[in-house]
Amino acid sequence: MNYLIQIKNKKIEIKDGKISSITLRNDKVATTAIPQVASQPHNDAEQNDKGIINASNLLISAGFIDCHAHSDYFIFLNPGADSKVYQGVTTDIGGNCGYSAAPVWGPCFEKRNSDYQTYENLPIPWHSLTEYAQAMDQMKISMNYGHLVGHNTLRESETGVVNRVLTATEIQNMCSKLEEAFQEGATGLSTGLVYPPACYSNEKELLELAKVCKKYDRIFAFHMRNENDFVVEATEETLNVGRKSGCKIQISHLKTSGKRNWHKMPKICDLIEKALTDGIDVAADRYPYTASQTGLLQVLPEWAFDGGEEAIIKRLKDKTARADIATELNKKYEKDYYNNVQIMEVASEKNKQYEGLRVAEAAKKRDQDSFEFVCDLLIEEKTKVSAIYFTMSEENLEMILQKEYVMIGSDSGCRSCVGRLSKGALHPRAFGTFPRVISEYVKKKKIITLDQALYKMSTQPAQRFGLKNRGKIEEGYWADLVLFDLDKIEDTSTFKEPLHYPTGIEYVFVNGELVIKGGKHTGKRPGHFLKY
Ligand SMILES: [Zn+2]
Repeated sequence: MNYLIQIKNKKIEIKDGKISSITLRNDKVATTAIPQVASQPHNDAEQNDKGIINASNLLISAGFIDCHAHSDYFIFLNPGADSKVYQGVTTDIGGNCGYSAAPVWGPCFEKRNSDYQTYENLPIPWHSLTEYAQAMDQMKISMNYGHLVGHNTLRESETGVVNRVLTATEIQNMCSKLEEAFQEGATGLSTGLVYPPACYSNEKELLELAKVCKKYDRIFAFHMRNENDFVVEATEETLNVGRKSGCKIQISHLKTSGKRNWHKMPKICDLIEKALTDGIDVAADRYPYTASQTGLLQVLPEWAFDGGEEAIIKRLKDKTARADIATELNKKYEKDYYNNVQIMEVASEKNKQYEGLRVAEAAKKRDQDSFEFVCDLLIEEKTKVSAIYFTMSEENLEMILQKEYVMIGSDSGCRSCVGRLSKGALHPRAFGTFPRVISEYVKKKKIITLDQALYKMSTQPAQRFGLKNRGKIEEGYWADLVLFDLDKIEDTSTFKEPLHYPTGIEYVFVNGELVIKGGKHTGKRPGHFLKY
């Protein structure tokens, strides 16, 4: 269907998925991207059968782009991408933090298949990026999807989870697979240097991969090796990869964790800004919350991950190994550490009672020391426990959001308020990231302007991740659009009650089709798998 959107002083025509014309309402042709239009709160938006949307009370933006996402597998459980499109997200960039759905082969393919069949009843028939894209195209999805290749996935596919330096041949094999994926349209590469097995990689390995990124002009996204006590060193390592290889660097979820590291943020920004002055192509992304979310496993030191799941469990059961871990963690963590870690999701029925509790609280319920509780829970749940870490500073978040080189990424997969993806104690960023930037940091705290926020959520990530003809409202561009009510836009998802979609997002177009209409999902699935 074709559409005509009438906002306060402009008409936007949509034909065959694209913006076919933009005219001023006195019928002069607008020459540049549309600036944001002031709202007229007295007029309700209407849409009629002929595809005319009268929305003079709403603002329009290019669709939001979630440049740091993890919908790789979730999208197969929720092709409607509920939590994303309800926020106005029209494109997701998956495969972040080193973990991607494709390409996957060897031991990693076997492990994923057994895991996902056990936990989600989800078969994974693909190996290559092309096969993965075909699976998604066959199913049809509600948002567009671009895909990074995960370094951790490449390494695990090549060698399994091993704690050693890779041979030249092994590195060469990873590079060939990466090159193939780039030729098949992958958006870039990501690494998760705190997660196994990429945490065992050295600079040489990173540089070889970075060279492939440079050759194909793709971005290399870093979940850095450290985000707390050694965050400065980790930033230097990341920037050096850019310096030595010349490839585009994205620092994922820029932060410093742990109170004693909060003061390091200005130093990190200085390093990034110095690198920019030196001509290194670096940028970053961040979500508008001060708590992170990852596996409870991340509490452990990295040497404890060696060998993968079975080896970790064996180690946690072994008295001496457990004591060694305890000694190391006692030095590493501040006293109140376990008060700031919340258990989100476990697999077994008997441990459901701990979901939503802080580790210290949960341990008390079992009459246990926090560390011992963590070890036992990881053993009982075969290491699959997710957790929220309340470890960041609001002041730093505000500083980060003001930086020109920072765009918005939720660090979250698509979720839903119903069905399988509504289960577990979820992080509100899955439901609220994009509206929250506007309601909290534009309207309430006035940290950034509305134009800056919309740029960080659409144009900037589109350019950074090479999404052609997206991220702006211009003739010939894909009609990925969000119409929202500036007065009503608000995230309503909280840590206590995450299952709430935001308010104020009235219409969302993906490739010219209405996915959200009058604030409700239409069930349409017009999304494309985006190939670079
Ligand atoms: Zn990450």
